[in-house]
Amino acid sequence: MDSFVDTHCHLDFEDFAADLGDILIRAKEAGVEQIITIGIEVSSSRRAASLAEANNEVYASVGIHPHNACQLSSENIQELIALGGKSKVVAYGEIGLDFYRNYQPRSVQLSCLLDQISLARQLDLPLVVHDRDAHEEILQTLRDERAWEIGGVMHCFSGDWSFAQRCLDLGFYLSIAGPVTFAKSQTLQQVALNCPLDRLLLETDAPFLAPVPRRGKRNEPAFLVHTAKKIASLKKLPLADVARQTTFNARDLFKLPDPAEIITIEKNE
Ligand SMILES: [Zn+2]
Ligand SMILES: [Zn+2]
Repeated sequence: MDSFVDTHCHLDFEDFAADLGDILIRAKEAGVEQIITIGIEVSSSRRAASLAEANNEVYASVGIHPHNACQLSSENIQELIALGGKSKVVAYGEIGLDFYRNYQPRSVQLSCLLDQISLARQLDLPLVVHDRDAHEEILQTLRDERAWEIGGVMHCFSGDWSFAQRCLDLGFYLSIAGPVTFAKSQTLQQVALNCPLDRLLLETDAPFLAPVPRRGKRNEPAFLVHTAKKIASLKKLPLADVARQTTFNARDLFKLPDPAEIITIEKNE
């Protein structure tokens, strides 16, 4: 069976509280072997790290989303550093700029982003970047901060191919989510078509943005396969190729172990 990594979802959200066990089973049945659950503020980062500790296939990212930028107190920074040092915490984020919702003043978002890029560098964790209607500002910041030295991903990529190329030039991966399956998403489909397969990651961003044919429903990691199939059809490649390469990419960026190798090591012990 093809195996996949869901590189971005929010398993700690209320939406999943009642049936997380079933969701993890369905993910496994769909071939989604590893899942990264993403923190959006300190308490969700704490929950993400606990979920990773409790479930073999789950890994965590910690950080403060631009919607919550004002919460970056020195106490919070200390806790994020502690969480970021845990072994199954594999990334720093999601961090970034959201000039669509503008829940925080832009200057606050920007200083929070800068502070957290330094934290990620200190923790040696790749960046999970959220960018909504802030393409130029994000690129400028990542460039100024020499973010290619840290590495990372533009999650739920939403720009056009020319912006995509500039992100690729920075050494970042592009992560494609469910909207690539929507009929109207031609710009994103063009990005998925043009982007070299070795620079692509897959994500659900669950519980949001369920792909067709689940559009409008609660999203979950098992639905990643619909996004993968769409990308395979756009690129006219076998699904197995998309699965193999995007899984390799995710393991490379986030330094995830290959589950098959873990089993072999345990058997040999
Ligand atoms: Zn996001
Ligand atoms: Zn997210």
